[in-house]
Amino acid sequence: MSVKKSLILMLFAASAFFVGCGSTNNDDRKTYEAVTRDVFAMDTYMNMKAYGKEAETALEEAENRIHKLEEELSATSETSDIWKINHSNGNEVALCDDTAVLIEKAIEVGSCTNGALDITVFPILKEWGFTTGEYHIPEKAKLDTLLSNVDYRKIEIDGNSVSIPYNSEIDLGALAKGYTGDEIMKIFKSHGIDSAIVSLGGNVQAIGSKPDASAWKVAVRDPFSPDTDMCVVEVKDKAVITSGNYERFFTDDYGQKYWHIIDPADGYPADNGFVSVTVIGDNGLNCDCLSTALFVAGEDGYENIIKEYADYDFIFVTDDEKILYTKGIADNFQNISSMTAEVIAVD
Ligand code: AMP
Ligand code: MG
Repeated sequence: MSVKKSLILMLFAASAFFVGCGSTNNDDRKTYEAVTRDVFAMDTYMNMKAYGKEAETALEEAENRIHKLEEELSATSETSDIWKINHSNGNEVALCDDTAVLIEKAIEVGSCTNGALDITVFPILKEWGFTTGEYHIPEKAKLDTLLSNVDYRKIEIDGNSVSIPYNSEIDLGALAKGYTGDEIMKIFKSHGIDSAIVSLGGNVQAIGSKPDASAWKVAVRDPFSPDTDMCVVEVKDKAVITSGNYERFFTDDYGQKYWHIIDPADGYPADNGFVSVTVIGDNGLNCDCLSTALFVAGEDGYENIIKEYADYDFIFVTDDEKILYTKGIADNFQNISSMTAEVIAVD
C-alpha cells in the first residue's frame, strides 16, 4: 500500500472514529474508560473502541480473530484457503468454516444481484494490477478472454468442500471486512460489552450507543473530495459500510480514473452512475456484499436489489454529484456537503 493511501486510510479511520467518541457520564458504564486498539490487517488500518469491564480482553481476542481471518481469507497469502482454491486446478478443496460461510454468502448475493457481485472477477483485478499496484489498462481482447472464466454460478460448494473450474480464481475482498466486523461484534458481546465502535477502513460497525446513551455518529466520506466528509449518520447497533471509487484507483495520462470495483459484465471498472454506495444495517456481511454489488448495479439496477433488503438503508452518490438516500435513515442523516441530497422512494 502506498504511503498516501495509508495516510488517507488513517485519516478516514480517525474521522469515523472521533465523530463517534462520546463522554462517559451516564449510568453504570461511566465506571469504564474507553479501551482502544489500532490494528493493521487486510491492507487496512483498523481502530476498535469498547467500554466494559472485559474490554481489554475483548479487544485482544478481537485482534487475534482479525489476524486469523486474514490468514484464512487473503487471496495473496500462500497459506490461505483462498490461495488453495485458486491453485486447485479444478480439484476439490477442504475449507475452514469462515471461508465456507463467505463463499456461500457470495453465491447467494451474486444470485440476488444478477451477478453484480461475482467473486470470480479476481483474474480481472489482477490483470488491471489492483492486487499489486502495478496498474495498466488491459486490451479488450484480454479482458474478454478472462471474462470467459468469470461466473460465480460455476463455484461448487458442499458444506466445507469447494471446487471452482480450472482457470477460475476467487477473492473475498468485497465481503471479508463486513464479516470481520460481525465477528468482532460477537466477541465483544460475549464479553458483556454493550457500547463499542470499530472502523475497518470504510467499514464502521457499532454495538449499542455511546456511553451517554446517544447514538454513534458515523461520517461518510465525500467521493469527490475523499479527505472530507459528506454526511453523518447516527446509528445504534448497526454497520455502516461504504464502497467508493476513491478507495483504490489509478489515473491514466489523460486523467481518466480506473477503480477497483469491476463490472463482471465487461471487465472494466463499474461505471454505472454511482461513485459511492453506503449500506446501513444489522448485518455487516450483508452490508459489505451489497455495497459492492449496488456500486456495480448502478442507477438502473439498484432498485430491484434494495427492494429485497427492506431492513437496510442506503446512501448513493451519483456521478453527477447528487446524494440519494432511503427514508429509514432520514431522521438520522445529516448532509454536510454542498451536494443536493434527496430521499428515494422504494415501492
Ligand atoms: P468493497 O470495498 O467492499 O466494495 O470491495 C472491493 C473489492 O471487492 C475489490 O478490491 C476486489 O477485491 C473485489 N471486487 C471488485 N469487483 C467485484 C465484483 N464485481 N464482485 C465481487 N468482488 C469484487
Ligand atoms: Mg463490499
